[in-house]
Amino acid sequence: QAAMEKVLWLRSVQLHTDQQAWQDSSDGWRMGELRRSLPAYKEKDAILNAVSQNQVVIISGETGCGKTTQIPQFILESEIDSLRGATCSIICTQPRRISAMSVSERIATERGEKIGETVGYKVRLEGIKGRDTRLLFCTTGILLRRLLVDRNLKGVTHVIVDEIHERGMNEDFLLIVLKELLPRRPDLRVILMSATLDANLFSSYFGGAPSVHIPGFTHPVHSYFLEDVLEKSGYRLTAENQIDDYGQERTWKSNKQFIKKRKSQIASAVEDALVSADFRNYSPQTQNSMSCWNPDCMGFNLIEFLLVTICEKEKPGAVLVFMTGWDDISSLKEKLQAHPHLGDPARVLLLACHGSMASSEQRLIFEKPEGGVRKIVLATNIAETSITIDDVVFVIDCGKAKETSYDALNNTPCLLPSWISKVSCKQRRGRAGRVQPGECYHLYPRCVYNAFADYQLPEILRTPLQSLCLQIKSLKLGSISEFLSKALQSPELLAVQNAIEYLKVIGALDESENLTVLGRYLTMLPVEPKLGKMLILGAIFNCLDPILTVVAGLSVRDPFLAPLDKKDLAEAAKAQFCREHSDHLTLVRAYEGWKVAEHELTGHEYCWKNFLSAQSMKAIYSLRQEFQSLLIDAGLIDTNITIHNTWSYDEDLLRAVICYGLYPGICSVVHNEKSFSLKTMEDGQVHLHSNSVNARDTKIPYPWLVFNEKIKVNSIFLRDSTAISDSVLLLFGGTLIKGDIDGHLKMMGGYLEFFMDPALAEMYQSLRREL
Ligand code: ADP
Ligand code: MG
Repeated sequence: QAAMEKVLWLRSVQLHTDQQAWQDSSDGWRMGELRRSLPAYKEKDAILNAVSQNQVVIISGETGCGKTTQIPQFILESEIDSLRGATCSIICTQPRRISAMSVSERIATERGEKIGETVGYKVRLEGIKGRDTRLLFCTTGILLRRLLVDRNLKGVTHVIVDEIHERGMNEDFLLIVLKELLPRRPDLRVILMSATLDANLFSSYFGGAPSVHIPGFTHPVHSYFLEDVLEKSGYRLTAENQIDDYGQERTWKSNKQFIKKRKSQIASAVEDALVSADFRNYSPQTQNSMSCWNPDCMGFNLIEFLLVTICEKEKPGAVLVFMTGWDDISSLKEKLQAHPHLGDPARVLLLACHGSMASSEQRLIFEKPEGGVRKIVLATNIAETSITIDDVVFVIDCGKAKETSYDALNNTPCLLPSWISKVSCKQRRGRAGRVQPGECYHLYPRCVYNAFADYQLPEILRTPLQSLCLQIKSLKLGSISEFLSKALQSPELLAVQNAIEYLKVIGALDESENLTVLGRYLTMLPVEPKLGKMLILGAIFNCLDPILTVVAGLSVRDPFLAPLDKKDLAEAAKAQFCREHSDHLTLVRAYEGWKVAEHELTGHEYCWKNFLSAQSMKAIYSLRQEFQSLLIDAGLIDTNITIHNTWSYDEDLLRAVICYGLYPGICSVVHNEKSFSLKTMEDGQVHLHSNSVNARDTKIPYPWLVFNEKIKVNSIFLRDSTAISDSVLLLFGGTLIKGDIDGHLKMMGGYLEFFMDPALAEMYQSLRREL
């Protein structure tokens, strides 16, 4: 014991002297000056005092004031200075992997070290940390996983939860767990960091924990809304097109007087057009197949116009464009690269900033380009608060962010671009005023802004809770509903019940809410349970290759395009891929063709010819790899085997795996004279979405369809379906892996009785007798 203490002591002294030496060096001094200029530095003592005297402390401050990079360092330095360097262990969680990586690297640089010395990071499938790592950045998910094996966070001295204002599901979940842990670990310190001033909410949740606010400073930012942009610009050209599109008389173009008089009316017509086009695009019927910001839409042209204007006429400074997601960013980037000015690397440095970019690309984002080159960064809402780019002077804000939403009554989840909140809007605007007065262009009218919600709803209140419930179970946190009632804001009881019920039906939980074997595997795959189920079974049955495509296809925008003016051609193109009564297998075939074409460098032509979205194909390609790495991570497939392929061409097997995943999304096919009708147990009569390959048939030679999603418009429509046989439903619908075959059959029996199919009921009875 004594020897051990001696070693630790010596190590602490060493850490202390190393850091002193760096701070005294000229590079270290310069870095120190930078750090001391950040607003957080002025509050250093107040923060350290609060942390030493309280178990929980809340710190808030404007984005960019130095919370993420400085506060963990203050704590680390104070531990090292008091010669506890070798025994402290600080964990700082980030909602996104990219910020965990970039922040840890930045801090290592600030400390004159390499990453993996005192500072490290750990994200899924990647991480750099060493024996001496005392400050570890990780995603919230990684810390939750650690809690699985280490309930008391043994040896951890400080947990810093960053960006809590985002109110992500994982963060809210972690807060409940930490709150329960505090009495068991009186020596543990918890620090919560937030960009906006909702300190009171968190403070009262943790029994009146004190908060420290870091006052910030930003330069004034001038805001333009859509109508101002139209007013300010020569955008009338495009406005003209819009007006034409929306059925106004064409003659107005030739009549200047008329134009002048109508100018404000035009602006408001465009406004209406934009708003209504938007809402039309985002109505539930078309949720996956359209985005307001697709290249043909007004949004892209407007952004391009603004960028050109800024580059040609405005003062120097970087431009930050907020987009909804990776697909929008990449297609906008493609469009801009083709522009003579914006695409010229001698004049413009065009960068994308999103969750899955490479770290070399990340570094460029922070650098100031040389020689009058204009930096333009296309970003998701990641640049709202977690990443600060200092030289931004212009912000273009499309007003939307992708967020998951969930409707407990219809029990359907969706990931959609939706309007941001007023707080987010303010954050985005603020990004323009870091170094000098800036400008912000909001691409929506003021009236839309006025209708924004003040805050965004926390994720736990707007997403399905299935995965969260599984996590609660795997962490052995007791009754799900009791646990969730302790959340900062508890989800609706109905949503919790739906989730539990669903998990029981698919066999992830047993009757008394305990995890089954399947449930345990599902907790290892951080995807929706239905996708997880297909992946697991695809791996088990050696048919992963097509199943990866099916699962990826369920997670992207519908790749089959149907332009209104070429509907017939598009349908004919799709028909070539059509597999026996399955949308899922049709997609597999289209994707496989694309892969071959892409290999021969004709992917684009292939997509063009076949009315496929090249973006969706690429997204499927990268998601497949993502899912594959998840399976390797969970130990379900081997790293050195590419993908199990043996049974990839057995269509019946693929139907079975799809059924296993999509159950209980099942409807029966009832044939009559000329065609067929469909019925589900809960809704009665339902219909097929017109995009489904099954919608074109007059006969489906199978008794059942499994489907991915129900959409309620006037009546209920099923999207993406696959026809299956009785035996597939009997064997793969429900709870097979649970091992409770009898219970499974009983449930199936109920189902079959409902549809009063005597042949099937007989089959089920005999199967049950046999077993
Ligand atoms: P907060 O967490 O309060 O939003 P940060 O600690 O992330 O603030 O950032 C503080 C300052 O450090 C900002 O001015 C930012 O520009 C700078 N910074 C952060 N990360 C990097 C980096 N990787 N490279 C250069 N500067 C960075
Ligand atoms: Mg931060």
